[in-house]
Amino acid sequence: MAAEPAADAGRDFIREIIQADLDAKRHATVVTRFPPEPNGYLHIGHAKSICLNFGVAQEFGGRCHLRFDDTNPVKEEQEFIDAIKADVHWLGFDWGAHLYHASDYFERLYEWAEHLIRSGKAYVDDTPVEEMRAMRGTLTEPGRNSPYRDRPVAENLDLFRRMRAGEFPNGARVLRAKIDMAAGNMNLRDPVLYRILHAAHPRTGTAWCIYPTYDFAHGQSDAIEGITHSLCTLEFEDHRPLYDWLIENLPVPAHPRQYEFARLNIEYTVLSKRFLTDLVQKGRVKGWDDPRMPTLAGMRRRGIPAAAIREFVRRVGMARANSVVELAMFEHPVREHLNKTAPRRMAVLRPLKVVIDNYPEGKVEEVELLNNPEDPAAGTRRVPFRREIYVERDDFMEDPPKKFFRLAPGREVRLRGAYYVTCREVVKNSTGEVVELRCTYDPATRGGGSPDGRKVQGTLHWVTEADSVAAEIRVYNTLFTRPDPGAGGDFFADLNPASLEVLGGCRVEPALAAAAVGETVQFERQGYFCADPDSRPERLVFNRTIGLRDSWAKAQAGPKVQAGPKKG
Ligand code: ATP
Ligand code: MG
Repeated sequence: MAAEPAADAGRDFIREIIQADLDAKRHATVVTRFPPEPNGYLHIGHAKSICLNFGVAQEFGGRCHLRFDDTNPVKEEQEFIDAIKADVHWLGFDWGAHLYHASDYFERLYEWAEHLIRSGKAYVDDTPVEEMRAMRGTLTEPGRNSPYRDRPVAENLDLFRRMRAGEFPNGARVLRAKIDMAAGNMNLRDPVLYRILHAAHPRTGTAWCIYPTYDFAHGQSDAIEGITHSLCTLEFEDHRPLYDWLIENLPVPAHPRQYEFARLNIEYTVLSKRFLTDLVQKGRVKGWDDPRMPTLAGMRRRGIPAAAIREFVRRVGMARANSVVELAMFEHPVREHLNKTAPRRMAVLRPLKVVIDNYPEGKVEEVELLNNPEDPAAGTRRVPFRREIYVERDDFMEDPPKKFFRLAPGREVRLRGAYYVTCREVVKNSTGEVVELRCTYDPATRGGGSPDGRKVQGTLHWVTEADSVAAEIRVYNTLFTRPDPGAGGDFFADLNPASLEVLGGCRVEPALAAAAVGETVQFERQGYFCADPDSRPERLVFNRTIGLRDSWAKAQAGPKVQAGPKKG
Protein backbone atom coordinates (compact mmCIF):
# COMPACT_ATOMS: atom_id res chain seq x y z
CA MET A 1 0.00 0.00 0.00
CA ALA A 2 1.03 3.62 -0.45
CA ALA A 3 3.53 5.13 1.93
CA GLU A 4 1.66 8.24 3.05
CA PRO A 5 0.44 8.11 6.62
CA ALA A 6 -3.32 8.30 6.94
CA ALA A 7 -3.14 11.48 8.96
CA ASP A 8 -1.61 13.24 5.99
CA ALA A 9 -4.57 12.64 3.72
CA GLY A 10 -6.66 15.57 4.87
CA ARG A 11 -10.44 15.72 4.89
CA ASP A 12 -12.47 16.28 1.77
CA PHE A 13 -16.19 15.94 1.17
CA ILE A 14 -15.90 12.24 0.33
CA ARG A 15 -13.95 11.44 3.46
CA GLU A 16 -16.50 13.48 5.43
CA ILE A 17 -19.35 11.39 3.99
CA ILE A 18 -17.57 8.13 4.78
CA GLN A 19 -16.76 9.25 8.31
CA ALA A 20 -20.39 10.25 8.88
CA ASP A 21 -21.63 6.88 7.54
CA LEU A 22 -19.28 5.00 9.83
CA ASP A 23 -20.17 7.19 12.83
CA ALA A 24 -23.90 6.62 12.21
CA LYS A 25 -23.19 2.88 11.79
CA ARG A 26 -24.78 2.86 8.33
CA HIS A 27 -21.82 0.66 7.38
CA ALA A 28 -19.52 -1.43 9.53
CA THR A 29 -16.62 -0.89 7.18
CA VAL A 30 -15.87 0.97 3.98
CA VAL A 31 -15.56 -0.93 0.69
CA THR A 32 -14.55 0.91 -2.48
CA ARG A 33 -13.49 -0.18 -5.94
CA PHE A 34 -11.39 1.09 -8.81
CA PRO A 35 -13.27 0.05 -11.98
CA PRO A 36 -11.18 0.55 -15.13
CA GLU A 37 -12.41 -0.51 -18.52
CA PRO A 38 -9.51 -2.49 -20.03
CA ASN A 39 -9.58 -0.58 -23.33
CA GLY A 40 -6.34 1.35 -22.88
CA TYR A 41 -3.58 2.16 -20.43
CA LEU A 42 -4.13 4.07 -17.22
CA HIS A 43 -3.29 7.78 -17.19
CA ILE A 44 -2.63 10.36 -14.50
CA GLY A 45 -6.37 11.03 -14.24
CA HIS A 46 -6.92 7.42 -13.23
CA ALA A 47 -4.20 7.90 -10.62
CA LYS A 48 -6.52 10.34 -8.90
CA SER A 49 -9.28 7.74 -8.77
CA ILE A 50 -6.85 5.01 -7.64
CA CYS A 51 -5.36 7.15 -4.87
CA LEU A 52 -8.85 8.10 -3.73
CA ASN A 53 -10.39 4.62 -3.76
CA PHE A 54 -7.43 2.73 -2.34
CA GLY A 55 -6.52 5.69 -0.12
CA VAL A 56 -9.84 5.94 1.73
CA ALA A 57 -10.04 2.16 2.13
CA GLN A 58 -6.61 2.26 3.75
CA GLU A 59 -7.34 5.26 5.95
CA PHE A 60 -10.63 3.89 7.25
CA GLY A 61 -9.44 0.31 7.63
CA GLY A 62 -11.67 -1.01 4.84
CA ARG A 63 -10.81 -2.53 1.50
CA CYS A 64 -10.65 -1.59 -2.16
CA HIS A 65 -11.41 -3.90 -5.06
CA LEU A 66 -9.84 -3.80 -8.47
CA ARG A 67 -12.69 -4.49 -10.86
CA PHE A 68 -12.32 -4.69 -14.60
CA ASP A 69 -15.37 -3.20 -16.22
CA ASP A 70 -15.05 -5.60 -19.14
CA THR A 71 -18.44 -5.31 -20.80
CA ASN A 72 -17.33 -4.29 -24.30
CA PRO A 73 -15.23 -7.11 -25.82
CA VAL A 74 -14.77 -5.17 -29.06
CA LYS A 75 -12.35 -2.71 -27.48
CA GLU A 76 -10.90 -4.70 -24.61
CA GLU A 77 -7.65 -6.65 -24.60
CA GLN A 78 -5.56 -8.80 -22.28
CA GLU A 79 -2.61 -6.46 -22.85
CA PHE A 80 -4.58 -3.67 -21.19
CA ILE A 81 -5.65 -5.87 -18.27
CA ASP A 82 -2.01 -6.77 -17.56
CA ALA A 83 -0.83 -3.18 -17.95
CA ILE A 84 -3.52 -1.86 -15.58
CA LYS A 85 -2.55 -4.33 -12.86
CA ALA A 86 1.13 -3.46 -13.22
CA ASP A 87 0.37 0.26 -13.07
CA VAL A 88 -1.80 0.05 -9.94
CA HIS A 89 0.95 -1.91 -8.20
CA TRP A 90 3.60 0.53 -9.37
CA LEU A 91 1.57 3.40 -7.98
CA GLY A 92 1.82 1.68 -4.61
CA PHE A 93 -1.53 -0.01 -4.13
CA ASP A 94 -2.68 -3.60 -3.78
CA TRP A 95 -6.12 -5.17 -4.06
CA GLY A 96 -5.01 -8.35 -2.29
CA ALA A 97 -7.54 -11.11 -2.96
CA HIS A 98 -10.10 -8.65 -4.29
CA LEU A 99 -9.64 -8.84 -8.03
CA TYR A 100 -12.96 -8.93 -9.88
CA HIS A 101 -14.40 -8.57 -13.35
CA ALA A 102 -17.84 -7.42 -14.40
CA SER A 103 -17.75 -10.50 -16.62
CA ASP A 104 -17.70 -12.66 -13.45
CA TYR A 105 -21.28 -11.47 -12.99
CA PHE A 106 -22.66 -11.99 -16.51
CA GLU A 107 -24.91 -14.86 -15.46
CA ARG A 108 -26.33 -12.97 -12.48
CA LEU A 109 -26.80 -9.79 -14.51
CA TYR A 110 -28.67 -11.82 -17.10
CA GLU A 111 -30.99 -13.23 -14.42
CA TRP A 112 -31.65 -9.73 -13.14
CA ALA A 113 -32.49 -8.58 -16.66
CA GLU A 114 -35.10 -11.36 -16.82
CA HIS A 115 -36.33 -10.20 -13.41
CA LEU A 116 -36.95 -6.73 -14.82
CA ILE A 117 -38.75 -8.20 -17.82
CA ARG A 118 -40.96 -10.33 -15.58
CA SER A 119 -41.84 -7.31 -13.45
CA GLY A 120 -42.79 -5.36 -16.56
CA LYS A 121 -39.83 -3.00 -16.26
CA ALA A 122 -37.86 -3.99 -19.34
CA TYR A 123 -38.68 -4.79 -22.95
CA VAL A 124 -37.02 -5.91 -26.13
CA ASP A 125 -36.94 -3.18 -28.74
CA ASP A 126 -36.54 -3.88 -32.48
CA THR A 127 -36.32 -0.22 -33.48
CA PRO A 128 -33.22 0.42 -35.65
CA VAL A 129 -30.46 2.31 -33.80
CA GLU A 130 -30.77 5.55 -35.78
CA GLU A 131 -34.51 5.73 -35.29
CA MET A 132 -34.18 4.94 -31.60
CA ARG A 133 -31.76 7.84 -31.25
CA ALA A 134 -34.16 10.20 -32.99
CA MET A 135 -37.01 9.05 -30.76
CA ARG A 136 -35.05 9.81 -27.61
CA GLY A 137 -35.93 13.49 -27.90
CA THR A 138 -33.69 16.34 -26.77
CA LEU A 139 -32.99 18.25 -23.60
CA THR A 140 -35.98 20.47 -24.38
CA GLU A 141 -38.28 17.92 -26.02
CA PRO A 142 -39.54 14.67 -24.54
CA GLY A 143 -38.84 11.39 -26.28
CA ARG A 144 -41.42 9.18 -27.99
CA ASN A 145 -42.42 5.71 -26.91
CA SER A 146 -41.19 2.81 -28.99
CA PRO A 147 -43.94 0.80 -30.71
CA TYR A 148 -42.45 -2.25 -28.96
CA ARG A 149 -42.70 -0.71 -25.49
CA ASP A 150 -45.84 -2.60 -24.53
CA ARG A 151 -44.81 -6.04 -25.69
CA PRO A 152 -46.23 -8.72 -23.41
CA VAL A 153 -43.86 -10.15 -20.81
CA ALA A 154 -43.87 -13.61 -22.40
CA GLU A 155 -42.83 -12.23 -25.80
CA ASN A 156 -40.07 -10.13 -24.20
CA LEU A 157 -38.75 -13.15 -22.33
CA ASP A 158 -38.81 -15.29 -25.44
CA LEU A 159 -37.01 -12.66 -27.55
CA PHE A 160 -34.44 -11.91 -24.85
CA ARG A 161 -33.64 -15.64 -24.51
CA ARG A 162 -33.26 -15.90 -28.27
CA MET A 163 -30.99 -12.85 -28.24
CA ARG A 164 -28.82 -14.73 -25.78
CA ALA A 165 -28.99 -17.89 -27.89
CA GLY A 166 -27.46 -16.02 -30.81
CA GLU A 167 -30.47 -16.03 -33.14
CA PHE A 168 -30.12 -12.38 -34.18
CA PRO A 169 -27.34 -10.35 -35.76
CA ASN A 170 -25.55 -7.42 -34.10
CA GLY A 171 -27.81 -4.43 -33.60
CA ALA A 172 -31.04 -6.25 -34.47
CA ARG A 173 -32.59 -5.76 -31.03
CA VAL A 174 -31.75 -4.38 -27.61
CA LEU A 175 -33.17 -4.79 -24.14
CA ARG A 176 -34.34 -1.50 -22.64
CA ALA A 177 -35.49 -0.49 -19.19
CA LYS A 178 -39.05 0.79 -19.18
CA ILE A 179 -38.82 4.01 -17.20
CA ASP A 180 -40.06 7.28 -18.70
CA MET A 181 -39.56 8.64 -22.23
CA ALA A 182 -40.53 12.11 -21.00
CA ALA A 183 -38.05 12.20 -18.10
CA GLY A 184 -36.05 15.41 -17.86
CA ASN A 185 -32.96 13.28 -17.36
CA MET A 186 -32.18 11.67 -20.72
CA ASN A 187 -30.58 8.69 -18.96
CA LEU A 188 -34.04 7.68 -17.72
CA ARG A 189 -35.59 7.62 -21.19
CA ASP A 190 -35.73 3.83 -21.43
CA PRO A 191 -31.95 3.28 -21.41
CA VAL A 192 -30.44 0.29 -23.19
CA LEU A 193 -29.47 -2.52 -20.80
CA TYR A 194 -28.26 -5.20 -23.24
CA ARG A 195 -27.00 -5.17 -26.81
CA ILE A 196 -26.16 -7.96 -29.23
CA LEU A 197 -22.45 -8.27 -29.94
CA HIS A 198 -21.09 -11.33 -31.63
CA ALA A 199 -17.55 -10.92 -30.40
CA ALA A 200 -15.19 -13.10 -28.39
CA HIS A 201 -14.51 -11.82 -24.89
CA PRO A 202 -10.99 -12.01 -23.35
CA ARG A 203 -12.41 -13.93 -20.37
CA THR A 204 -15.73 -15.50 -21.33
CA GLY A 205 -14.75 -16.38 -24.88
CA THR A 206 -17.80 -17.03 -27.04
CA ALA A 207 -20.12 -17.95 -24.15
CA TRP A 208 -22.03 -14.69 -24.67
CA CYS A 209 -23.24 -12.74 -27.65
CA ILE A 210 -25.22 -10.19 -25.65
CA TYR A 211 -23.42 -7.83 -23.30
CA PRO A 212 -24.72 -5.54 -20.55
CA THR A 213 -24.18 -1.79 -20.90
CA TYR A 214 -22.05 0.15 -18.45
CA ASP A 215 -25.15 1.40 -16.63
CA PHE A 216 -26.61 -2.05 -16.16
CA ALA A 217 -23.33 -3.68 -15.13
CA HIS A 218 -21.83 -1.06 -12.90
CA GLY A 219 -24.19 -0.51 -10.00
CA GLN A 220 -25.16 -4.18 -9.89
CA SER A 221 -21.49 -5.20 -9.74
CA ASP A 222 -21.10 -2.72 -6.88
CA ALA A 223 -24.03 -4.36 -5.10
CA ILE A 224 -22.70 -7.89 -5.61
CA GLU A 225 -19.33 -6.92 -4.16
CA GLY A 226 -20.84 -5.06 -1.22
CA ILE A 227 -19.32 -1.74 -2.29
CA THR A 228 -20.40 0.91 0.21
CA HIS A 229 -19.23 4.03 -1.60
CA SER A 230 -19.07 3.94 -5.40
CA LEU A 231 -16.82 6.87 -6.24
CA CYS A 232 -16.77 8.10 -9.80
CA THR A 233 -16.20 11.22 -11.83
CA LEU A 234 -18.71 14.00 -12.41
CA GLU A 235 -19.81 12.91 -15.87
CA PHE A 236 -21.72 10.11 -14.10
CA GLU A 237 -23.74 12.50 -11.97
CA ASP A 238 -26.59 12.36 -14.49
CA HIS A 239 -26.45 8.56 -14.41
CA ARG A 240 -27.02 8.42 -10.66
CA PRO A 241 -30.85 8.39 -10.90
CA LEU A 242 -30.57 5.37 -13.19
CA TYR A 243 -28.02 3.77 -10.86
CA ASP A 244 -30.50 4.19 -8.00
CA TRP A 245 -33.50 3.07 -10.09
CA LEU A 246 -31.83 -0.22 -10.98
CA ILE A 247 -30.71 -0.86 -7.40
CA GLU A 248 -34.28 -0.20 -6.19
CA ASN A 249 -35.93 -2.40 -8.79
CA LEU A 250 -33.65 -5.43 -8.56
CA PRO A 251 -33.27 -8.04 -5.80
CA VAL A 252 -29.68 -6.98 -5.19
CA PRO A 253 -27.94 -8.02 -1.96
CA ALA A 254 -26.83 -4.50 -0.98
CA HIS A 255 -27.60 -0.85 -1.69
CA PRO A 256 -24.40 0.95 -2.64
CA ARG A 257 -24.42 4.70 -3.20
CA GLN A 258 -22.66 6.64 -5.89
CA TYR A 259 -20.73 9.85 -5.21
CA GLU A 260 -19.08 12.00 -7.84
CA PHE A 261 -15.87 13.98 -7.71
CA ALA A 262 -14.11 16.23 -10.22
CA ARG A 263 -12.09 14.75 -13.05
CA LEU A 264 -8.43 15.61 -13.08
CA ASN A 265 -7.42 17.85 -15.98
CA ILE A 266 -3.93 19.24 -16.47
CA GLU A 267 -2.76 22.00 -18.78
CA TYR A 268 -0.99 20.91 -21.99
CA THR A 269 -2.34 17.39 -21.43
CA VAL A 270 -5.20 15.33 -22.81
CA LEU A 271 -6.70 12.70 -20.51
CA SER A 272 -9.11 10.93 -22.79
CA LYS A 273 -8.48 7.28 -23.48
CA ARG A 274 -10.09 7.62 -26.86
CA PHE A 275 -7.67 10.32 -27.95
CA LEU A 276 -4.67 8.57 -26.40
CA THR A 277 -5.66 5.42 -28.32
CA ASP A 278 -5.76 7.52 -31.49
CA LEU A 279 -2.26 8.89 -30.84
CA VAL A 280 -0.91 5.37 -30.43
CA GLN A 281 -2.78 3.87 -33.38
CA LYS A 282 -1.84 6.68 -35.74
CA GLY A 283 1.80 6.43 -34.69
CA ARG A 284 2.00 10.01 -33.40
CA VAL A 285 3.79 8.69 -30.32
CA LYS A 286 5.89 5.54 -29.97
CA GLY A 287 3.35 3.62 -27.91
CA TRP A 288 1.34 3.74 -24.72
CA ASP A 289 4.55 4.04 -22.70
CA ASP A 290 6.06 6.82 -24.79
CA PRO A 291 7.53 9.15 -22.13
CA ARG A 292 5.53 12.05 -23.58
CA MET A 293 2.26 10.29 -22.81
CA PRO A 294 0.30 11.15 -19.65
CA THR A 295 -0.06 7.42 -19.01
CA LEU A 296 1.39 5.89 -15.86
CA ALA A 297 3.49 3.63 -18.09
CA GLY A 298 4.84 6.67 -19.94
CA MET A 299 5.54 8.54 -16.74
CA ARG A 300 7.33 5.55 -15.24
CA ARG A 301 9.48 5.22 -18.36
CA ARG A 302 10.23 8.90 -18.17
CA GLY A 303 11.47 8.54 -14.58
CA ILE A 304 8.63 10.21 -12.68
CA PRO A 305 8.53 8.58 -9.23
CA ALA A 306 5.24 7.02 -8.11
CA ALA A 307 5.56 8.85 -4.77
CA ALA A 308 5.57 12.20 -6.60
CA ILE A 309 2.33 11.26 -8.40
CA ARG A 310 0.69 10.32 -5.11
CA GLU A 311 1.82 13.61 -3.60
CA PHE A 312 0.53 15.54 -6.61
CA VAL A 313 -2.88 13.91 -6.34
CA ARG A 314 -2.97 14.63 -2.61
CA ARG A 315 -2.26 18.32 -3.25
CA VAL A 316 -4.87 18.58 -5.98
CA GLY A 317 -7.45 17.32 -3.49
CA MET A 318 -11.05 16.31 -4.09
CA ALA A 319 -13.17 19.08 -5.49
CA ARG A 320 -16.78 18.87 -6.54
CA ALA A 321 -16.28 21.09 -9.58
CA ASN A 322 -14.10 20.38 -12.59
CA SER A 323 -11.04 22.55 -13.12
CA VAL A 324 -7.73 22.50 -14.95
CA VAL A 325 -4.58 22.10 -12.88
CA GLU A 326 -1.45 24.05 -13.83
CA LEU A 327 1.40 21.99 -15.20
CA ALA A 328 3.70 23.58 -12.62
CA MET A 329 1.61 21.99 -9.90
CA PHE A 330 2.44 18.57 -11.30
CA GLU A 331 6.11 19.36 -11.82
CA HIS A 332 6.69 20.76 -8.36
CA PRO A 333 6.37 17.54 -6.33
CA VAL A 334 8.37 15.71 -9.00
CA ARG A 335 11.33 18.06 -8.58
CA GLU A 336 10.89 18.11 -4.84
CA HIS A 337 11.03 14.33 -4.63
CA LEU A 338 13.90 13.92 -7.06
CA ASN A 339 15.96 16.65 -5.45
CA LYS A 340 15.95 14.62 -2.24
CA THR A 341 16.49 11.20 -3.77
CA ALA A 342 18.30 11.43 -7.11
CA PRO A 343 22.08 10.82 -7.10
CA ARG A 344 24.09 13.55 -8.85
CA ARG A 345 26.10 12.68 -11.93
CA MET A 346 27.90 14.59 -14.66
CA ALA A 347 26.85 14.39 -18.28
CA VAL A 348 27.73 16.66 -21.19
CA LEU A 349 24.83 16.93 -23.59
CA ARG A 350 26.53 18.99 -26.33
CA PRO A 351 30.26 18.32 -25.91
CA LEU A 352 33.06 20.80 -26.61
CA LYS A 353 36.57 19.42 -26.24
CA VAL A 354 39.00 21.07 -23.83
CA VAL A 355 42.71 20.28 -23.68
CA ILE A 356 44.53 21.34 -20.50
CA ASP A 357 47.97 22.09 -21.94
CA ASN A 358 49.95 22.09 -18.71
CA TYR A 359 48.37 18.90 -17.35
CA PRO A 360 50.70 15.90 -17.87
CA GLU A 361 49.81 13.71 -20.84
CA GLY A 362 48.59 10.26 -19.84
CA LYS A 363 48.08 11.20 -16.18
CA VAL A 364 44.81 10.17 -14.43
CA GLU A 365 43.67 11.39 -11.03
CA GLU A 366 40.48 10.63 -9.23
CA VAL A 367 38.44 13.42 -7.74
CA GLU A 368 35.83 12.76 -5.10
CA LEU A 369 32.32 14.09 -5.60
CA LEU A 370 29.24 14.11 -3.38
CA ASN A 371 26.48 11.83 -4.61
CA ASN A 372 23.81 14.10 -3.21
CA PRO A 373 24.39 17.31 -1.27
CA GLU A 374 20.79 16.97 0.05
CA ASP A 375 21.51 13.55 1.49
CA PRO A 376 24.89 12.97 3.22
CA ALA A 377 24.06 9.27 3.56
CA ALA A 378 24.27 8.98 -0.23
CA GLY A 379 28.09 9.20 0.15
CA THR A 380 30.66 10.10 -2.47
CA ARG A 381 32.05 8.67 -5.67
CA ARG A 382 35.37 8.92 -7.46
CA VAL A 383 35.50 10.32 -10.96
CA PRO A 384 38.60 10.20 -13.18
CA PHE A 385 40.17 13.47 -14.34
CA ARG A 386 42.57 13.90 -17.27
CA ARG A 387 44.15 16.33 -19.70
CA GLU A 388 41.46 15.94 -22.36
CA ILE A 389 37.93 16.62 -21.23
CA TYR A 390 34.56 17.77 -22.54
CA VAL A 391 32.49 20.65 -21.29
CA GLU A 392 29.08 21.83 -22.41
CA ARG A 393 29.24 23.78 -25.69
CA ASP A 394 27.08 26.58 -24.37
CA ASP A 395 29.29 26.93 -21.28
CA PHE A 396 31.67 28.77 -23.62
CA MET A 397 31.22 32.09 -25.39
CA GLU A 398 33.87 33.71 -27.47
CA ASP A 399 32.57 37.19 -26.91
CA PRO A 400 30.48 36.99 -23.76
CA PRO A 401 28.42 39.63 -22.02
CA LYS A 402 29.69 40.74 -18.63
CA LYS A 403 27.36 38.54 -16.61
CA PHE A 404 28.42 35.34 -18.36
CA PHE A 405 30.33 33.49 -15.64
CA ARG A 406 31.40 30.49 -17.64
CA LEU A 407 34.30 29.94 -20.04
CA ALA A 408 35.52 32.67 -22.40
CA PRO A 409 38.96 33.67 -23.66
CA GLY A 410 41.10 34.58 -20.65
CA ARG A 411 38.43 33.65 -18.10
CA GLU A 412 38.92 31.24 -15.23
CA VAL A 413 36.27 28.79 -14.02
CA ARG A 414 36.08 25.86 -11.62
CA LEU A 415 35.64 22.35 -12.96
CA ARG A 416 33.36 20.66 -10.43
CA GLY A 417 35.47 18.85 -7.79
CA ALA A 418 38.68 19.18 -9.84
CA TYR A 419 40.65 22.38 -10.62
CA TYR A 420 40.40 25.96 -11.79
CA VAL A 421 41.12 26.26 -15.49
CA THR A 422 41.68 29.34 -17.66
CA CYS A 423 40.86 29.49 -21.35
CA ARG A 424 44.00 30.42 -23.32
CA GLU A 425 43.15 29.68 -26.93
CA VAL A 426 40.15 28.97 -29.12
CA VAL A 427 40.59 26.46 -31.94
CA LYS A 428 38.25 26.71 -34.94
CA ASN A 429 37.70 24.62 -38.04
CA SER A 430 37.72 25.93 -41.61
CA THR A 431 34.14 27.14 -41.32
CA GLY A 432 34.90 29.17 -38.22
CA GLU A 433 33.16 26.86 -35.77
CA VAL A 434 34.78 26.50 -32.35
CA VAL A 435 35.96 22.88 -32.10
CA GLU A 436 38.33 22.94 -29.13
CA LEU A 437 39.53 25.08 -26.26
CA ARG A 438 43.09 25.10 -25.00
CA CYS A 439 43.25 25.82 -21.30
CA THR A 440 45.73 25.78 -18.44
CA TYR A 441 45.01 24.62 -14.92
CA ASP A 442 46.28 25.75 -11.53
CA PRO A 443 47.60 22.66 -9.68
CA ALA A 444 47.10 24.46 -6.33
CA THR A 445 43.30 24.49 -6.80
CA ARG A 446 42.76 20.75 -6.53
CA GLY A 447 39.30 19.92 -5.19
CA GLY A 448 38.00 23.23 -6.49
CA GLY A 449 39.28 25.84 -4.03
CA SER A 450 42.32 28.14 -4.21
CA PRO A 451 44.88 28.63 -1.43
CA ASP A 452 45.28 32.32 -2.34
CA GLY A 453 41.56 32.85 -1.83
CA ARG A 454 40.83 34.06 -5.36
CA LYS A 455 37.25 33.49 -6.43
CA VAL A 456 35.76 32.19 -9.63
CA GLN A 457 32.09 32.68 -10.34
CA GLY A 458 31.35 29.70 -12.52
CA THR A 459 31.47 25.97 -11.82
CA LEU A 460 31.14 23.70 -14.82
CA HIS A 461 30.37 20.03 -15.10
CA TRP A 462 32.71 17.98 -17.27
CA VAL A 463 33.66 14.45 -18.30
CA THR A 464 36.97 13.09 -19.59
CA GLU A 465 37.34 12.16 -23.21
CA ALA A 466 38.90 8.77 -22.43
CA ASP A 467 36.61 7.54 -19.63
CA SER A 468 33.22 8.98 -20.52
CA VAL A 469 30.59 6.85 -22.22
CA ALA A 470 28.63 7.77 -25.33
CA ALA A 471 24.91 8.32 -24.84
CA GLU A 472 21.78 9.41 -26.60
CA ILE A 473 19.63 11.75 -24.59
CA ARG A 474 15.95 12.24 -25.29
CA VAL A 475 14.66 15.60 -24.19
CA TYR A 476 10.90 15.81 -23.84
CA ASN A 477 8.73 18.86 -23.97
CA THR A 478 4.98 19.14 -23.61
CA LEU A 479 3.06 17.00 -26.09
CA PHE A 480 0.85 19.97 -26.97
CA THR A 481 1.65 23.56 -27.79
CA ARG A 482 -1.32 25.01 -25.96
CA PRO A 483 -2.59 24.67 -22.40
CA ASP A 484 -6.06 23.69 -23.66
CA PRO A 485 -5.36 21.21 -26.46
CA GLY A 486 -8.26 20.62 -28.79
CA ALA A 487 -9.98 23.88 -27.86
CA GLY A 488 -9.76 24.89 -31.51
CA GLY A 489 -11.56 21.69 -32.50
CA ASP A 490 -8.62 19.52 -33.49
CA PHE A 491 -6.31 17.87 -30.96
CA PHE A 492 -3.89 16.80 -33.66
CA ALA A 493 -3.39 20.38 -34.83
CA ASP A 494 -2.13 21.26 -31.36
CA LEU A 495 0.53 18.54 -31.15
CA ASN A 496 3.93 20.03 -30.36
CA PRO A 497 6.34 19.27 -33.22
CA ALA A 498 9.19 19.79 -30.74
CA SER A 499 7.87 17.41 -28.09
CA LEU A 500 10.88 15.14 -28.57
CA GLU A 501 14.42 16.33 -29.17
CA VAL A 502 17.03 13.60 -29.59
CA LEU A 503 20.60 14.54 -28.70
CA GLY A 504 23.17 12.12 -30.12
CA GLY A 505 26.85 12.18 -29.21
CA CYS A 506 26.37 13.06 -25.55
CA ARG A 507 29.10 11.99 -23.10
CA VAL A 508 28.32 10.81 -19.59
CA GLU A 509 30.53 9.96 -16.62
CA PRO A 510 31.60 6.30 -16.38
CA ALA A 511 29.38 5.45 -13.37
CA LEU A 512 26.33 5.98 -15.58
CA ALA A 513 27.18 2.92 -17.66
CA ALA A 514 25.65 0.94 -14.78
CA ALA A 515 22.50 3.08 -14.41
CA ALA A 516 19.46 0.89 -13.88
CA VAL A 517 16.38 1.42 -16.03
CA GLY A 518 13.84 3.45 -14.11
CA GLU A 519 16.31 4.89 -11.61
CA THR A 520 16.36 8.65 -11.94
CA VAL A 521 19.57 10.64 -11.45
CA GLN A 522 20.35 14.32 -11.62
CA PHE A 523 22.73 15.40 -14.36
CA GLU A 524 24.34 18.36 -12.67
CA ARG A 525 23.09 21.70 -13.92
CA GLN A 526 20.84 19.96 -16.50
CA GLY A 527 17.94 18.24 -14.85
CA TYR A 528 16.75 14.77 -13.93
CA PHE A 529 17.27 11.85 -16.27
CA CYS A 530 16.75 8.12 -16.24
CA ALA A 531 18.00 5.24 -18.34
CA ASP A 532 15.49 4.12 -20.95
CA PRO A 533 14.69 0.44 -21.60
CA ASP A 534 16.29 1.04 -25.05
CA SER A 535 19.64 1.66 -23.32
CA ARG A 536 22.49 -0.75 -24.21
CA PRO A 537 26.05 -0.86 -22.79
CA GLU A 538 27.47 0.29 -26.13
CA ARG A 539 24.82 2.96 -26.59
CA LEU A 540 23.30 4.33 -23.44
CA VAL A 541 19.94 6.05 -23.76
CA PHE A 542 18.59 8.48 -21.19
CA ASN A 543 15.24 10.23 -20.93
CA ARG A 544 14.99 13.66 -19.48
CA THR A 545 12.47 13.30 -16.69
CA ILE A 546 12.21 17.00 -15.99
CA GLY A 547 14.38 20.12 -16.12
CA LEU A 548 15.98 21.49 -12.97
CA ARG A 549 14.16 24.76 -12.85
CA ASP A 550 10.70 25.73 -13.71
CA SER A 551 11.52 26.08 -17.38
CA TRP A 552 7.79 25.84 -17.97
CA ALA A 553 7.03 29.09 -16.17
CA LYS A 554 9.83 30.82 -18.05
CA ALA A 555 8.59 29.51 -21.34
CA GLN A 556 5.19 30.96 -20.52
CA ALA A 557 6.69 34.41 -20.58
CA GLY A 558 8.40 33.76 -23.91
CA PRO A 559 7.55 31.17 -26.53
CA LYS A 560 4.57 28.91 -25.91
CA VAL A 561 6.56 25.69 -25.93
CA GLN A 562 8.42 24.42 -22.89
CA ALA A 563 12.09 25.31 -23.20
CA GLY A 564 15.01 22.90 -23.38
CA PRO A 565 17.39 22.19 -20.48
CA LYS A 566 18.43 25.23 -18.50
CA LYS A 567 21.85 26.00 -17.19
CA GLY A 568 22.68 27.20 -13.70
P1 ATP B 1 -12.36 7.93 -21.02
O1 ATP B 1 -11.00 8.54 -20.79
O2 ATP B 1 -12.49 7.31 -22.35
O3 ATP B 1 -13.49 8.83 -20.59
P2 ATP B 1 -12.32 6.63 -18.52
O4 ATP B 1 -11.00 7.25 -18.23
O5 ATP B 1 -13.54 7.08 -17.83
O6 ATP B 1 -12.51 6.68 -20.08
P3 ATP B 1 -12.43 4.13 -17.12
O7 ATP B 1 -11.57 2.96 -17.34
O8 ATP B 1 -13.89 3.92 -17.09
O9 ATP B 1 -12.11 5.07 -18.32
O10 ATP B 1 -11.98 4.86 -15.79
C1 ATP B 1 -11.87 4.17 -14.56
C2 ATP B 1 -12.13 5.09 -13.43
O11 ATP B 1 -11.21 6.18 -13.46
C3 ATP B 1 -13.51 5.68 -13.49
O12 ATP B 1 -14.12 5.55 -12.22
C4 ATP B 1 -13.31 7.10 -13.85
O13 ATP B 1 -14.26 7.91 -13.23
C5 ATP B 1 -11.91 7.39 -13.31
N1 ATP B 1 -11.28 8.44 -14.11
C6 ATP B 1 -11.09 8.44 -15.45
N2 ATP B 1 -10.52 9.59 -15.87
C7 ATP B 1 -10.34 10.34 -14.76
C8 ATP B 1 -9.80 11.65 -14.53
N3 ATP B 1 -9.33 12.40 -15.52
N4 ATP B 1 -9.77 12.10 -13.26
C9 ATP B 1 -10.24 11.34 -12.25
N5 ATP B 1 -10.75 10.11 -12.40
C10 ATP B 1 -10.81 9.61 -13.64
MG1 MG C 1 -15.25 5.67 -18.16
